[in-house]
Amino acid sequence: MSIIKLHDKLFKKYISKDQIAEAVTQLVKQVAKDCKNETPIFIGILNGSFVFVADFVRKYKFNCEVSFVKLASYNGTNSTGKIKQLVGLNENLEGRTVVILEDIIDTGNTLQEIYDIFKDKKLKQLKIATLFFKPDVFKKELPIDYIGLSIPDEFIVGYGLDYDGLGRNLANIYQLTAKPTVKNILLFGPPGVGKGTQADMLKEKYHLVHISTGDVFRKHIKNETKLGILAKSYIDKGNLVPDDVTIKMLKSVVNKVPHTNGIIFDGFPRTKAQAIALDEFLEERGETIDGMITIEVPTSLLIARLLERGKTSGRSDDQDENKILNRFNEYYTKTEILKDYYQSQNKYFGIDGVGEIEEITKRLSDVFEKL
Ligand code: AMP
Repeated sequence: MSIIKLHDKLFKKYISKDQIAEAVTQLVKQVAKDCKNETPIFIGILNGSFVFVADFVRKYKFNCEVSFVKLASYNGTNSTGKIKQLVGLNENLEGRTVVILEDIIDTGNTLQEIYDIFKDKKLKQLKIATLFFKPDVFKKELPIDYIGLSIPDEFIVGYGLDYDGLGRNLANIYQLTAKPTVKNILLFGPPGVGKGTQADMLKEKYHLVHISTGDVFRKHIKNETKLGILAKSYIDKGNLVPDDVTIKMLKSVVNKVPHTNGIIFDGFPRTKAQAIALDEFLEERGETIDGMITIEVPTSLLIARLLERGKTSGRSDDQDENKILNRFNEYYTKTEILKDYYQSQNKYFGIDGVGEIEEITKRLSDVFEKL
């Protein structure tokens, strides 16, 4: 998945685990070239560096020691207030080559503290290796001996780095991204109310992607795919296609829609199981349903409309009154209950669907703009 949510924020995939692995390999090569004739002690700065250090030392094929320290602040009694101290450093480092392994260096403040603390430990030499480096914000004069990847000043998580405690276990690096202003809307109503026609108008007006599960099924039927042959056996009778088949198909269609686009769902969900699956699936994308709008038209008008449409639409399910009645039956027994589902989340809106196409588009737009 390319977008994830941690606490209240969205992050998009930024640096892949393969790119990270390559950067670690290059760092190991450079450090090994300089240190292979001695036994360096690698010191990881907790918490963020634990993943990097683990990968680094497993790629390092010469003798070495590994240790971790944590930079802790405590309230000092002198006038400067906070004092930084390294916790966990038990080794005698006199005469040793120490290589600090940092996950990320940005302003260099932490690095400065570490330098100051190591200054009087009588080391043979102190070297700094960092996996990520932000040159635009680094303010110090200190030398950084080895740099994995230089990156712009973006907030990143993953591979040991966290956002308020979360995200350290992600294999890739993710970057903070602004909350998209996309709107996902469900266009709802019994067969023949004009969902498809209205969706076509609204997608232009609001730059949305229109997904009609009925259209997707019809395309599969036309292309005689396996899914099409299966769906046809249900659609021809005016029955709903089973949930597992429909949900799987919808997910694969939505996955092709970029996160920058909102979606008008037309003809989905049609059962409670589909509504629940959609909520879960959108949540994984860091998105939600903003509203369900039902176009309301009396059934008596709709049957006549569908029979009329059947003369030109070529749809097998529009041409026979029994099939049409069965579609209404499916709607009123399985689909209409979804009003309650969305009403309980304050996402339900109904509009009068009797009138000219433009009038109805206007009524729908008024709701859209409130969402
Ligand atoms: P529509 O074009 O939305 O009227 O859909 C035509 C037919 O496709 C329906 O009568 C169902 O047989 C099938 N279909 C479309 N969407 C769904 C869905 N979400 N769940 C189950 N069947 C569907």
